[in-house]
Amino acid sequence: MVYSLWVYLLSCPEQPVPFPWERCYDLGTDVLFYKNAVYGTIVIDLRPRINLGGGLFHDNSMWYDLTGRSSHYQALFRDYQHDQDSPFLLYTNCCGSLVYLVVPELVQHCPLCGCFVSFFG
Ligand SMILES: [Zn+2]
Repeated sequence: MVYSLWVYLLSCPEQPVPFPWERCYDLGTDVLFYKNAVYGTIVIDLRPRINLGGGLFHDNSMWYDLTGRSSHYQALFRDYQHDQDSPFLLYTNCCGSLVYLVVPELVQHCPLCGCFVSFFG
């Protein structure tokens, strides 16, 4: 079910988000996420830079805030971030419900709540 969105995130940011997924934006946290309109599944995109297509990017420092990465690391990371490296898809039982996390690097613990995460695929 999450697979179509995952393929989309990996390969075709210039296309619209595949149905029944919707791209959502949380104004309070400045975080992009995707919601499955049929099943209600949530995929939170924690990548520091997200290609929205058409030359638009969404920058979000939340990943660095959550993982405590230094600004030096951030600068290095951004340098090779133009083409968007392949992210990782994790899933976790976060705050009582199953959520998927799109992250720029593998982590063992959910950056949101600290619980263990599993690698998808
Ligand atoms: Zn969590």
